Amino acid sequence: MAKTLSRVLGKVLLLVLSLVVAAAWLIILRLKDVAVPVLVVYGLLLLGLVIGLIWPGVYGRRFGRTQVGKFIGVPAGLGTLGLYFAVVFYIADVPVLLGLAAAAALAAALVTGLRGRRGTAKPAASRSRRALVLGGVGVALGTLSGLSVGRVERHRQDQLTQAEKIRQEAIHAPGRRQRITDGAVRVFPLHTGDTVVTFGQFYGGFDGWDGVNGYLRTLLDKTLITVPVYAYLVDHPRHGLMMIDAGINWEQAHDHDGYYNHNAMVSRLLSDRDEYRMTSEQDLRVRVARLGYDVTDVTTVFLTHVHDDHAGGLRHLSQATVVMDRRDWEHGVVYPYSFDLVKDNLAFPRFDSGAFHAFPDSQDYFGDGSLILLPTPGHSPGHMCVLLHMDDGNALFMGDTLYTLPHFAVDQVRQMTIGGTDTVHQIDAARRIQELLTEAPNTVPMFAHDNTPYQLELVDSAFSHGRPDAAGFRRLRQHMNTVLTSDWRLRPGHTPHLAQAGRVEFR
Ligand SMILES: [Zn+2]
Repeated sequence: MAKTLSRVLGKVLLLVLSLVVAAAWLIILRLKDVAVPVLVVYGLLLLGLVIGLIWPGVYGRRFGRTQVGKFIGVPAGLGTLGLYFAVVFYIADVPVLLGLAAAAALAAALVTGLRGRRGTAKPAASRSRRALVLGGVGVALGTLSGLSVGRVERHRQDQLTQAEKIRQEAIHAPGRRQRITDGAVRVFPLHTGDTVVTFGQFYGGFDGWDGVNGYLRTLLDKTLITVPVYAYLVDHPRHGLMMIDAGINWEQAHDHDGYYNHNAMVSRLLSDRDEYRMTSEQDLRVRVARLGYDVTDVTTVFLTHVHDDHAGGLRHLSQATVVMDRRDWEHGVVYPYSFDLVKDNLAFPRFDSGAFHAFPDSQDYFGDGSLILLPTPGHSPGHMCVLLHMDDGNALFMGDTLYTLPHFAVDQVRQMTIGGTDTVHQIDAARRIQELLTEAPNTVPMFAHDNTPYQLELVDSAFSHGRPDAAGFRRLRQHMNTVLTSDWRLRPGHTPHLAQAGRVEFR
């Protein structure tokens, strides 16, 4: 009796475990945009297979484990392989898919041939005919695979060359601004493209995106919104040309598969296809050239964190020193290809300059108070914010500590982190920044992804010549006060809502 019970319990446990694995697998496939009907069929197949293997009697006494394996296991297994390779290599890597099919056909031919030697019930003639057909198919697919490699690669190269030509023309086109050298500190917001994210990942806490449900919806719901990716160019009379973050690059946005092919398989499996959008005018080199500068003159890049929508542009900045928190380099999500050209130019701040406003540690990077690095871990293990002293005020570069101005209402608007201590640290960092802004009324936040009028209208126009006057700084802070109360809550009319067609409205 006890023996039967423990066996049943063991089988139930096995069932639960398989269901968890299957669910995780289905979520990954959904993330990769596999259609829901396909996933439902595949999920049912997996469920049938698992039940059939654990309780062979379910399908009738004569339909045992072997039959279940054959009739449901083979389609489920092929489905797994097919879906896996389709999503990991996508369709662009046709030669890889053809090559795999060729290898499978040749292996099947070999097995059929070997079985024939050992002798089975089937007549030898039918066996060798089958081996011959399978082998022929394998060779044909292999040949097709070999022939298509060059074609696919040429197509990719053609596209890249064409795009590079367009960008070079844009860089050298007239319309370049004259660089002003009057000893002032200048900051230019560079809109380097857009990224596509789920509404809930960006604006958690609203319209049902909250808690566990919020995480699930972020994974499964494909309601996407488009938000800008900003990097900042700093022209400093004493410290030269610098950047805060580097944005994305063209290859990352337009040849996503090729770009991430340089990275580990895991990042490929998890990274979303077509997550970035960028016009040739938004190319970092074009943007910088339009302002009268050359991207190769940038000496220092302060990277708020390692994430790829902040680091992709580093491929244009191989000459620069890249300053970032060591914890991000060692424990963050690093995409090696984005860092390939700068990995020997990294500098890690020690944060030993003492307290700065609400921050117990800071780094006065140049030792003259002109640029302060503030550790703000949470969004990533080594996230940092950058405070730049300008002539009539200070610019505080937020990175992803808070995505937008409404995110300052941290008790209402939540941006997704993994949860647990990361979220605690991030909220802690946000509160320290709130305190800093309260104490320093001439400091304005500069966001990486703000999609509200604050960035798109006010910051962009106040900084259009790189240098707002005291009144300009005041106007930005006044706008902040129309969005947020003094205890950091949203005023009516500024709560984000998901409207039709992935548009965000503030009501
Ligand atoms: Zn980030």
